[in-house]
Amino acid sequence: MTELTRADWEERASRLRIEGRAFIQGEYVEAASGDTFDCISPVDGRLLCKVASSGEADAMRAVASARATFDSGLWSRLAPVERKQAMIRFAELIDAHAEELALLETLDMGKPISDSLNVDLPCAVDAIRWSAEAIDKVYDEVAATPHDQLGLVTREPVGVVAAIVPWNFPLLMTCWKLGPALATGNSVVLKPSERSPLTAIRLAQLACDAGIPAGVLNVLPGFGHSVGKALALHMDVDTLVFTGSTRTAKQLLINSGESNMKRVWLEAGGKSPNIVFADAPDLQAAAEAAAGAIAFNQGEVCTAGSRLLVERSIKDKFVPMVVEAIKAWKPGNPLDPATNVGALVDSQQLDIVLGYIESGHADGAKLVAGGKRVLEETGGTYVEPTIFDGVDNAMRIAKEEIFGPVLSVIAFDSEEEAVAIANDTIYGLAAAVWTSNLSRAHLVGKALRAGSVWINQYDGGDMTAPFGGFKQSGNGRDKSLHAFDKYTELKATWIKL
Ligand code: NAD
Repeated sequence: MTELTRADWEERASRLRIEGRAFIQGEYVEAASGDTFDCISPVDGRLLCKVASSGEADAMRAVASARATFDSGLWSRLAPVERKQAMIRFAELIDAHAEELALLETLDMGKPISDSLNVDLPCAVDAIRWSAEAIDKVYDEVAATPHDQLGLVTREPVGVVAAIVPWNFPLLMTCWKLGPALATGNSVVLKPSERSPLTAIRLAQLACDAGIPAGVLNVLPGFGHSVGKALALHMDVDTLVFTGSTRTAKQLLINSGESNMKRVWLEAGGKSPNIVFADAPDLQAAAEAAAGAIAFNQGEVCTAGSRLLVERSIKDKFVPMVVEAIKAWKPGNPLDPATNVGALVDSQQLDIVLGYIESGHADGAKLVAGGKRVLEETGGTYVEPTIFDGVDNAMRIAKEEIFGPVLSVIAFDSEEEAVAIANDTIYGLAAAVWTSNLSRAHLVGKALRAGSVWINQYDGGDMTAPFGGFKQSGNGRDKSLHAFDKYTELKATWIKL
């Protein structure tokens, strides 16, 4: 944990110079329309800055810049080892600015400064560094051709990538996209969420400072319905990579079909089951993990363990353990290094989360922890981590992604029933299983329709393994070498010998 106190962070926040403009062709610029929007901190409602509200004209300019830079070969045809070196400098610069970026992230979206600094920042640095380190170690293929033919199977950068990212891990989701996109030689137009654009805007300058040529990374803050839509419909964007809600993901597929059939890769929502069998090796560890799975990042996590499936024979013992464990997660000022639950991203999200809590009551679920807005006097948007017991999987709180700290506890009687409930969702992002039985762990793990499965832990993984969803949680994968597939086209070249 950082040595800095809340007073230190407050003092740094008071003298932070925040950039809110778009970044095109290596320069900060106002939106062509001159429009801006207010960037309000959910910590206490303070105005952080005015942010450029980019629109169609800015999308046209940024894509033209990305295309010209791509075609110039300045980055796209650079030897992989040279791209690697520039990207490692980029990672080092992010690391060198970790405190500034962490502060921006916390002020902008409300997450605890300890998480911004100790989770988001190191993971973001790692995402850039990992892709950079990998790029001069991947080889193309020679096909199993007849004697008089040489068949080359090569990967080429797709060209111009539009990356549209969400607000819950703004910097990290950005770096999951930028790492493989830049390493493979593409030019990128990045659209951060209008609800948390600040770290992406700052990152653009750091990329240039690292020696990544102007035009390779352009950043357009603004709204989904304006600049986001313009990118999705743009005829010269080759690939659109997205992290965000399933609703927007579906719209982007339509936009692709309506325009140039750009490739669309989607990381979308989740409603992940966390299944605890009576033979779990350590119920206390399972209870603590279940609490963390819904409280970390205020529950604003695509893989939040929002459905806790508990074998009925241990439910009366286990649920009170989770209720006890969640007491360690308390909303507080995110600039206090001791805080582990910050503010929800904004008042709109607050209303959504409180609405779901009402719906849990109305559907007859039993509230056993939390349930209220707190710290209202601060001007911020804080909600207690909340647990509903006696939930039926058909209730709204079990079916819909809440994206807040609200846990639904659902009982099951058999392995088959647990799997059936777990898979009874439109989503398929992640799942966890707690059991001491090795066969059961494997069999249930295989039966779960989810892109990530954790056994006897909740959450976990690093850059070495792919991450993404089954079903309406999306397609394609971020992280690992598999992520490179999204950013490259496969070419077969036949040479007659
Ligand atoms: P969102 O879909 O509302 O917005 C995501 C991004 O899309 C934003 O930048 C937004 O401006 C843009 N957008 C919105 N409408 C658009 C349109 N019509 N055209 C183009 N762009 C548009 O999602 P959100 O509320 O920012 O993020 C929360 C969601 O993200 C949750 O569903 C969560 O599960 C998901 N998420 C998924 C992952 C994952 O890896 N699977 C990770 C983090 C978050």
